[in-house]
Amino acid sequence: RRVHPPSSPGGGSIPGMADCLFCRIVAGEIPATIAHETPSALVFHDIAPKAPVHLLAIPKEHHEVAASVAGADPKLAGEVLAAATEAAAKAGLTGGYRLIANTGPDSGMEVAHFHVHVLGGRPLGPMLA
Ligand code: 5GP
Repeated sequence: RRVHPPSSPGGGSIPGMADCLFCRIVAGEIPATIAHETPSALVFHDIAPKAPVHLLAIPKEHHEVAASVAGADPKLAGEVLAAATEAAAKAGLTGGYRLIANTGPDSGMEVAHFHVHVLGGRPLGPMLA
């Protein structure tokens, strides 16, 4: 299964893609606890949970940020969102949950492979306190 898009003509590559942590999880090279999987998306448990349930929903294909996937493949962006909500339902988050997608340096994004955090399992309070 191909995870990375083909390199551009001339051998160039997309910055940050070569050694992408989440692409390695998709490829099975780094273990993760899978919560939900679809043909195009993977949802797994965050290694450092910030809530009783903390999942990460990603496209299997590498896209760096929200604008990359929404611009290149809006259907895929929707499939990631759907996978996030399906995983939240499977996790029993009937009382609600929070979806967050950090995007770019000012957001504090640490892994440059688009992902949606799913946080829940307790009342989270106002986000912008
Ligand atoms: P960001 O800050 O980029 O929005 O979120 C990256 C998330 O990835 C963080 O919440 C961090 O805990 C999580 N993370 C980092 N490394 C790993 C890993 O190796 N496995 C898993 N499952 N999550 C990771």
